[in-house]
Amino acid sequence: MSHPINFDFSEEFARKMDEKDPLKEFRSKFIFPKVDGKTAIYFCGNSLGIQPKTTKQYIQKELDNWADLAVDGHFYGEDAWYHVRKKSKPALAEIVGAHEHEVVAMNNLTSNLHFLMVSFYQPTAEKFKIITEAGAFPSDMYMLETQVKFHGLNPDEVIVELTPREGEHTLRTEDILKTIREHGDQLALVMMAGLQYYTGQLFDMEAIAKAARQVGAYVGFDLAHAAGNAQLSLHDWEVDFATWCSYKYMNSGPGNISGVFVHEKHAEKPDLPRFAGWWGHDEGERFKMEKGFKPMFGADGWQLANSNVLALAAHQASLDIFLEAGIGNLRKKSETLTGYLEFLIQNISGKSGVIEIITPKNKNERGCQLSLLVHKGGKAVFDELYQNGIVGDWRHPNVIRIAPTPLYNSFTDVFRFAQVLKQSLLKFA
Ligand SMILES: *Cc1c(COP(=O)(O)O)cnc(C)c1O
Repeated sequence: MSHPINFDFSEEFARKMDEKDPLKEFRSKFIFPKVDGKTAIYFCGNSLGIQPKTTKQYIQKELDNWADLAVDGHFYGEDAWYHVRKKSKPALAEIVGAHEHEVVAMNNLTSNLHFLMVSFYQPTAEKFKIITEAGAFPSDMYMLETQVKFHGLNPDEVIVELTPREGEHTLRTEDILKTIREHGDQLALVMMAGLQYYTGQLFDMEAIAKAARQVGAYVGFDLAHAAGNAQLSLHDWEVDFATWCSYKYMNSGPGNISGVFVHEKHAEKPDLPRFAGWWGHDEGERFKMEKGFKPMFGADGWQLANSNVLALAAHQASLDIFLEAGIGNLRKKSETLTGYLEFLIQNISGKSGVIEIITPKNKNERGCQLSLLVHKGGKAVFDELYQNGIVGDWRHPNVIRIAPTPLYNSFTDVFRFAQVLKQSLLKFA
C-alpha cells in the first residue's frame, strides 16, 4: 500500500500535519486523563473512549428535568423521555450506515447479542451451524456457547471457527467465503466481529453478508470495535443484524448503552421469534396495557424496557460531536494518522523486526488500531510507555494495542509515542 503523503521522521512534520488537519479543533472538546499528574497521551479509545467536555451538561440537564418534572418528564415538552430513543437515531444511522428505523440504542452489548440470537438463530435439523472467528471476544464466545446449549445442541458440533492460515495472524476473505460455502447446506448463521478486537482486522462485511445470503444463512456482526471507527454501510451490505457498545470509540462513558441494527427487510415480521417487552410494543397502544404483543416497526420493535435517560444523555453528548465532525472526515484522517503510526513503528523496529504489526497493512482491512506483537521485552516496553504518560493497552501474552482516534488524537501524539517507543526498545528489547 502506498500512502498519498510522504511521511517523515521529524517533529516538524507532525506539527505541520496537525496544522493542516481540518478536525484539529475537535481535540479541545475532550478531557484527557492524567498519568502521575501529567496529561496523558491517550491511545486507548478501543477500550474506553475519553469524556467529552459537554457530557456533564447533557446529564445535568436530565437530572434537572427529573428534579423539576418527576413523572411529568415522560411526556413534557420536546425532550419528553417517552420519545428519548429517537434523538440518537440520526447519528447512529450515519455511524453504521443505516436508515433511522433500522437502529435503536438500548441495553448492553452482550444482552443485545442474546436478544438478537433469539430472533436470528433458529436451528433446524438441516440448518444449525454457526460460523464465527476463532479467538473472538470472550463475551461473544460465552454467548454463542450458551445459546447453542439453550437449543439443546452441542457447541462442538455447531460452532465452526475461522482460523488464520499457518504462520498468519489474520483471516483471508477468500478463506472466510470458502468456509461459508463449504458449510452452506447446514449453515444457519454467520455471527462474528466486524473488526477483530485483538488483531485489529476489519472484515469484508459486504462479501461475508453476500456469501451468507447465497447459502440461505443469516448474518450478524458484533461491531464493538467497528462502530465509530470504520466506515460502515450495514443497510446496503444487507447485514441482517448488528450490535455494538458506545463506550469504546463512541466515548459515551463506561458500560454505557449499546445499540442495535436490524435490517429493514425484518422491519415488519411480527412472526420472527423475539423476547418482547412493553417498550417494543406499538407505541400508540402501549399504555392500553393489554395482552397480545404487537412489535413496533423496525429496530424499535426489539426494545424491551423504557429508555435509560441518563445513559442516553451521555451517549448524545458524544453523538453530537460525531455528527459535527462527519464520519467520512473522521475516517479520512484516521487512515492517514494510522498510516503515520505504522510508518514510524516500522522505521523504529527496522530490520531487527522486534515489533511485528499483526493488523493488516491494507487500510481497507483495518480501523485506527494497530496491534503490535512485541517479540522481545514486551511487558517492560509497555510499562515504560505508561510511565512516560502513554496509555495504550496490553493483551496477554505479548500484544500492545495502540489506537489513535481521529477525534482527539494528533500527529504530534503519534510522534511522541514513537519517540518513547524508540527509547523503550533500546532499553528492553
Ligand atoms: C468490548 C466488547 C464486548 C463487551 O461487552 P459488554 O456487554 O459491553 O460488556 C463484547 N464483545 C466485543 C467484541 C467487545 O469488543
